[in-house]
Parts: sequence; C-alpha cells; structure tokens
Amino acid sequence: MKIPHSKPFLGRDDIEKVQSSLVTGMIASGSEVECFVKEVSEYMGVIGGVASNSGTNALHLALLASGAGPENEVILPSYVCSSVLSAVKYTGAEPVFSDIETDGYRNGYGLSPESVKNSITERTNSIILPHMFGTPAKVDAIMEFGIPVIEDCAQSIGADYKGRKAGSFSDLSIYSFYATKVITTGNGGMTLTNNPELLEKLKDLTKYDGRDEYGVSYNYALTNFQAAMGRNQLRKLDGFIEKRKKIAGSYSDVLEDIGQRFPENSDSIHFRYVVEVESGELDSLIAEMRKNGVMCEKPVFMPLHRYFGINREELPNTERAMNQAISIPIYPAMKETEVEYVCDTIRKLWK
Ligand SMILES: *Cc1c(COP(=O)(O)O)cnc(C)c1O
Repeated sequence: MKIPHSKPFLGRDDIEKVQSSLVTGMIASGSEVECFVKEVSEYMGVIGGVASNSGTNALHLALLASGAGPENEVILPSYVCSSVLSAVKYTGAEPVFSDIETDGYRNGYGLSPESVKNSITERTNSIILPHMFGTPAKVDAIMEFGIPVIEDCAQSIGADYKGRKAGSFSDLSIYSFYATKVITTGNGGMTLTNNPELLEKLKDLTKYDGRDEYGVSYNYALTNFQAAMGRNQLRKLDGFIEKRKKIAGSYSDVLEDIGQRFPENSDSIHFRYVVEVESGELDSLIAEMRKNGVMCEKPVFMPLHRYFGINREELPNTERAMNQAISIPIYPAMKETEVEYVCDTIRKLWK
C-alpha cells in the first residue's frame, strides 16, 4: 500500500460541471466566476470580493488593497509556505517574522498574539494571519492591536471560531483553491472583504479595461470552467470537513491508545494532522513511515527566517515545530482501508 501525503477529491460531478461550462464557449472569466465569488462570500458571511488564479495572487491583492508598499512593513509567520512571503515581496514591503503559539496540540500553529505585539512598529501596515493546518488562530486577540489583519484561509475554509467562520473576523481574507487544498479549482484563489471601500479597491485593482484614466491593473483572473469546479466543490465542503474530522478521530484514538498526545483543538477542520515527536527522531520517523508506504511530511518545508539567517532563538516555537512536527496523510479522498493502514503503521512504528 502507498498512501500519498495529499490528494485532491475529484468526482465525476466536478468533471461534468467543467464540461458543461466549457461547452457554453464562455471560457474566460464571466458569470460562473461571479457566482462562485458570491457563493463563497455567502458561505463566509461577508459582502464580496474578487477571484484570482492563485492564493498567492489573492494575497497580493489583499496587501495592495490594504496599502502595503516599499515604505512600510508586513508581519507574517516564519512557519508558513514561501508563497506568503512572495506576496509580501511583490508589494515591496518589508517582511517581519513573528513566532507561533506554544502547544500546537491545543492552540494550533498560528501566530502568537504576544509575538505579534512585539513585532509591531510605527511602519507596520498589516498582519498576515494564516489559520494554519485548518486550525483557527487567535484572530480576535490579534485584531485588538488595531493593525489591519489579513486572514489567510488557504488551509482553513469552513473552520469555525467562536461561533463564526474563521476568515469573517477581519476586513480582508484570502483563499487558495490549489489542487490539494480543502476545495480546489486546480489553481485558484479569492480575496474577500466585509468593507465596501476595500471591495471597490479590489475590483479596481483587477479591472483592466474600460477605464477613463490609466491605472496599473492585475490580470489574475480565474476562468469560468475553473469556477464551475469550485462551485461544485463548495457544495461538498461541509461533507469534506466531516470526513476529515472522522479520519482525525481515528488517528487520535490510536495515539491515545499508545500514550501519545494528539491534536485536541475542536475548531480544527484538520487540513493537516500534525503530531510532534522528540527532536532528533523526526527525520528517521518520517523515513520509516515512508518506507512503510505512508507518505508523511514536515508540514512546512522550511521556516522562512532560516532563508535570511535570522537568529533561531528569536522564534523558539517555530524552531520547535520545525524540529518536531510530522504531518500524517489526511484528506477526504482517503479510503477506509487506507485510514486503517495508517493507524496500523502508527501502532507499529511509534513507541
Ligand atoms: C497554499 C497557501 C497559499 C498560497 O496559495 P496558492 O494557491 O498555492 O498560491 C498561501 N497561504 C497559505 C497558508 C497556503 O497554505
């Protein structure tokens, strides 16, 4: 048995929707995309936004709307994929890395309010706050600092936090519909807002025709046939989340059985199932799991501060996660026999 680390869930219904969209001949961005934006906005409980061709570009648009540029700074975690940093770099703003929470099992791997507070200067423009691995970060506490927050929901669409959708708290939120994200359009993204002024700004940034005066615009459009897939995936989202929670429950039962801690944040939609092991044991455990056909990974390839030679002691929780966190395959396309096999392999290899 070989179980990939992640895999999209594509049904015949998704393919049929794409096909019906294609035969209309309207293959660029049009009404299908508008419907997709409207439906995701309604699902999230916000007023609207713009679709784009990737989460990275959706984040770029959010940063531009919030006024990030060469004269200011943007706070982001180091413990995240490099595309988040790239979006900051596109704007010319200076990235400032903050540390994540202690105790990932309970708090997840989002930014710690304490560390964010210490990173704020008079040049801070905004804070990018990913709800990492499907677990909501403490967005309410971080918004209290009075700096605009961009909620990065690339891994967390559908997660609830304090009775609302994580992503609906701050003025701006972004989404990714990359192949292996929670729902997919192949590649794709969205920037949503609850602020009418920001909505106008986002529309203006992406409008490349019919202007009276020239303004730089960003052609990040999603296509109708991708949106057709996205709309169909959105209908299945709550079912996907249920499936993820069920698989997570199976893993947690096994870990509890063998006396290991397990992720205990009940808000998580388990985009990733992350467990920490003794540092020094991580690489060999990942290798052993893989040898047995269970393709585990480090959940973040490389914390961003290491690219810049930043002192490791400054981000102790990021270093801890990097040295100890292992991500076990979890996705709705997993078959029951595969889940059982992963459970058996954990029992066999983890002491
Ligand atoms: C995937 C991801 C992105 C970027 O999305 P793409 O669609 O791959 O460009 C941004 N932020 C986070 C947290 C992600 O996981």
